[in-house]
Amino acid sequence: MIPYGKQDISPADIEAVVEVLKSDYLTQGAQVPRFEETVADYCDAEFAVAVNSATSALHIACLALGLGEGDILWTSPNTFVASANCARFCGATVDFVDIDSRTYNMCVVALEEKLHAAKKTHTLPDIVMPVHFAGQSCNMKRIHELSVEYGFKIIEDAAHAIGGKYLGSPIGGGKYSDITVFSFHPVKMVTTGEGGVATTNQSDLAEKMQLLRSHGVTRQPHLMTQPLEGDWFYQQVDLGFNYRMTEMQAALGISQMQRLDAFVQQRTCFAKRYDELLSDLPLVRPYQDPDTASSFHLYPILIQTQQIGQSRTDVFNALRAHEIGVNVHYIPVHTQPYYQALGFAQGDFPVAEAYYQQTISIPVFHAMSDAEQAQVVKVLQAVLA
Ligand SMILES: *Cc1c(COP(=O)(O)O)cnc(C)c1O
Repeated sequence: MIPYGKQDISPADIEAVVEVLKSDYLTQGAQVPRFEETVADYCDAEFAVAVNSATSALHIACLALGLGEGDILWTSPNTFVASANCARFCGATVDFVDIDSRTYNMCVVALEEKLHAAKKTHTLPDIVMPVHFAGQSCNMKRIHELSVEYGFKIIEDAAHAIGGKYLGSPIGGGKYSDITVFSFHPVKMVTTGEGGVATTNQSDLAEKMQLLRSHGVTRQPHLMTQPLEGDWFYQQVDLGFNYRMTEMQAALGISQMQRLDAFVQQRTCFAKRYDELLSDLPLVRPYQDPDTASSFHLYPILIQTQQIGQSRTDVFNALRAHEIGVNVHYIPVHTQPYYQALGFAQGDFPVAEAYYQQTISIPVFHAMSDAEQAQVVKVLQAVLA
């Protein structure tokens, strides 16, 4: 089976992890700060806070921005459930903004309309969370303009998108948002096994997230209510979690980050080749907004199901039967039973639902061979013929 995505671990990556295992610190040593510096430098952000998953990063990002009960977060329905769940962890209400039918990202026209309506009913969001689907940035300039007009904070869910660019700058630089979150799960661009990072340019947000990832406990005198009683002294000044990343994970991340540009370059080559080789088939290739350079975490194709008289599921099953490990991204979050129980229904976000009925993510990953890509194309041609 050729998977839709897969990590690429080098001998240097393995060596980096082994070195940590031989060292004195498996957690809370020098590797996590080094990894944070590596990510911050790469993205051109002031601060990076590393945690044990992007889900944890989204949670503490919401808390750092003050999200709580009675508050509202809006995100895209075309995402992994974690983008919405993080607001529920904080006791906040979730709502969605339908996607753009070309980019599959949050539609800024739909966002503006929904904000306009919400203002009248006093249900404006406290946080809007655009998701850079497949690694292509949302229209952040417009979302930022709307945030100024309507007074909401912005968290970018960039779980797919480290290595991607928007208007020539790396995603994560924070020019148009408060916090950006990356995932280091093995199917994502670079991996730490499990892991996540939140970047920001605001020192108070970075400080708050650092506190929350480790029990709300600090050893920094300026955060304490009284002078240090001795070298052992710490204070719990907030209610936090154990969301820490280990030193092994951070060392793997530092090593992987050295190859991020090569990963993106290779994925971009594969995407360009798919663009050419699939151009005659009854499918829509992923549109690329000229303001963006995608990381190509995913290469989603839209099957022209009516034209070929086969459903997406038919095509999906045929590809799997031919050992092509395709997947589907995403089941619209509002159609999940948990969210239906909160009042959402089929039909609420029709663009995301229609997209879901036709989409298939075909294999793209750094270690894929040219022969494997040729095989994917050959099988697709046969299945769609
Ligand atoms: C993978 C993913 C997450 C969660 O990342 P984890 O590191 O697995 O917690 C969140 N949002 C999106 C869009 C994702 O794809």
